Amino acid sequence: MTTLFPKPEHSTVPILGSELTFPVRRVYCVGRNYAAHANEMGHSEREAPFFFTKPADSLVINPKTIPYPSMTEELHHEVELVIAINQELSDADESEAEACIYGYALGIDLTKRDLQAAAKDQGRPWDLAKGFDQSAPISPILPLDNLADIERGPISLSVNDKLRQQGDLADMIWSSVEIVEELSRHITLKPGDLIFTGTPSGVGSIERGDRVVANLNQTLDLNFIIE
Ligand code: MN
Repeated sequence: MTTLFPKPEHSTVPILGSELTFPVRRVYCVGRNYAAHANEMGHSEREAPFFFTKPADSLVINPKTIPYPSMTEELHHEVELVIAINQELSDADESEAEACIYGYALGIDLTKRDLQAAAKDQGRPWDLAKGFDQSAPISPILPLDNLADIERGPISLSVNDKLRQQGDLADMIWSSVEIVEELSRHITLKPGDLIFTGTPSGVGSIERGDRVVANLNQTLDLNFIIE
């Protein structure tokens, strides 16, 4: 059978040091996973991790520019560790969750904060505040040698050379392994799934012409201009 139109192409993320690429299946994101960010968003109690998604084709690999999106006047940056899953698993225990994390990347969960706030007020879904075109800039994936590399280490984002977000992976309320365990109780994770693990405090607005530079563990970075 011939398809009505060409099959949609999956996003693929380069893997550092490899000729292989990482084909993306789905993109999950964790909300409020650093205490200081939860506080700045008006929440103070530890809660179970909660999840939302972005379309897989909202990823942009190592972009040089990102267009300022339509339908917002308050575009926010959220710098995040992203973990890459390469095994199927459901209802995982800790060791199974560890084993399925192939590698990690640096990502930015771009957010239309004004739309998100309105959706929250109205008890409506956030989807279009989070999952718009090019809303998920991401670095290449670094294969994980040592679990410690995603358990601690500096993560930061600056805008026009001014530091906005500076955190440490050790301050994540739910670790990457715990996030995988919890998500795998809800859905069957599959190879190609990416998980944005939440942002430290300091989220804020970006405007046309701003240069955004982000860094994780002094090994992964992103550097682009909002157009
Ligand atoms: Mn986020």
